[in-house]
Amino acid sequence: MQVLERTPKVETKLPAVGTTIFTVMSQLAAEKAAVNLGQGFPDFHCDPALVDAVTQAMQAGHNQYPPMAGLPVLRNAIATKIEALHARQYSANDEITITAGATQGIITAVLAVVRPGDEVIVLEPCYDSYVPNIELAGGTPVRVPLTPHTFRPDFDKISAAITPRTRAILINSPHNPSATVWSEAEMLRLQDILAPTEILLISDEVYEHMVFDGQQHQSAARFAGLAARAFIVSSFGKTYHVTGWKVGYVAAPASLSAEFRKVHQFNVFTVNTPVQHALAAYMSQPAPYLELPAFYQRKRDLFLDGLRKTRLKPLHTQGSYFQCVDISEVSDLSEADFCQWLTSEIGVAAITLSAFYGSGFDQRVVRFCFAKKMKRCNWLWRVWPSCEALFLS
Ligand code: PMP
Ligand code: GLN
Repeated sequence: MQVLERTPKVETKLPAVGTTIFTVMSQLAAEKAAVNLGQGFPDFHCDPALVDAVTQAMQAGHNQYPPMAGLPVLRNAIATKIEALHARQYSANDEITITAGATQGIITAVLAVVRPGDEVIVLEPCYDSYVPNIELAGGTPVRVPLTPHTFRPDFDKISAAITPRTRAILINSPHNPSATVWSEAEMLRLQDILAPTEILLISDEVYEHMVFDGQQHQSAARFAGLAARAFIVSSFGKTYHVTGWKVGYVAAPASLSAEFRKVHQFNVFTVNTPVQHALAAYMSQPAPYLELPAFYQRKRDLFLDGLRKTRLKPLHTQGSYFQCVDISEVSDLSEADFCQWLTSEIGVAAITLSAFYGSGFDQRVVRFCFAKKMKRCNWLWRVWPSCEALFLS
């Protein structure tokens, strides 16, 4: 019998997908020893008390599988927080599931409800995992643009995109990459549009605690007509400066959570135990998340002070830890070439907005992450004027 020694050919399920822009730019930043203002993650430490709490949980022997849906004590803490902040009760038992970050929460929700032939509306620019998630479920992504330059939901276009095959809509506020935040009126408008339909909502709220200038995060949990059809996804990575721990959660009505858990139990089964214990203990004090807006608003403002000394034009950051800038007065390069140049020649990594569009639409805007030590950003503003002079000459 002939032994086949070559690897069998596989037809890719994701022909349009390569390595994510975040990984590509972080690799380039490391290679060039550049300051990484590209990939969204803090370059500072989390609260040492949180690390101690994980150590204590491990030492106390919490090292085996937790319950499939997550530790009850953590689910209770989340239910308590949602009720305190958004006045909606979720049953910790049946309606909250701990996930391996928001990434797993989103794909699990999509796999749980989207079938081949279903359409799912995404609002572009959008986070890079959404479209591949829909495609893996056999669904068809329907891309609806946010308003040009201002990145607001365009409800006429959203309404026009709805068909009898629309299964879900995926929204994200505070928004990555544009740093806009949905208003109450916008959430109400979405609620009205969805009211006569069976369309589900996947609401990516990972930056829920980074909303600035006294504005409030308008969680889907605050709106009865949205909460009743929503998978609300959040991430402890963002809130507690621990993106590498990969723990998040999904809150959804019991019938949706039951379907979610059917998939969850076979794609991760459960999420690491000592971190769940630590997060549950840490969440008992609200101060860390209540103080987060002021913490990041200060970073945003310092970043803006630097930007104002340049010809880079800042867009308005309402929330998240991202600052977008219009590069058109500084350079004729495409977003991708500008980011390559900035990383390789100036030593600062940024992310193109075009990476968040299926078409690669280039509007000459790039994204910086300011969840960084301020001395790193300040260095950029010190060197930038001479770079700009060089560039413009
Ligand atoms: N959604 C958005 C909008 C994000 O920016 C991120 C950050 N990576 C995620 C989801 C994924 O979060 P996590 O790291 O918890 O998987
Ligand atoms: N969400 C982060 C960002 O937008 C990156 C996460 C990742 O690398 N997948 O930069």
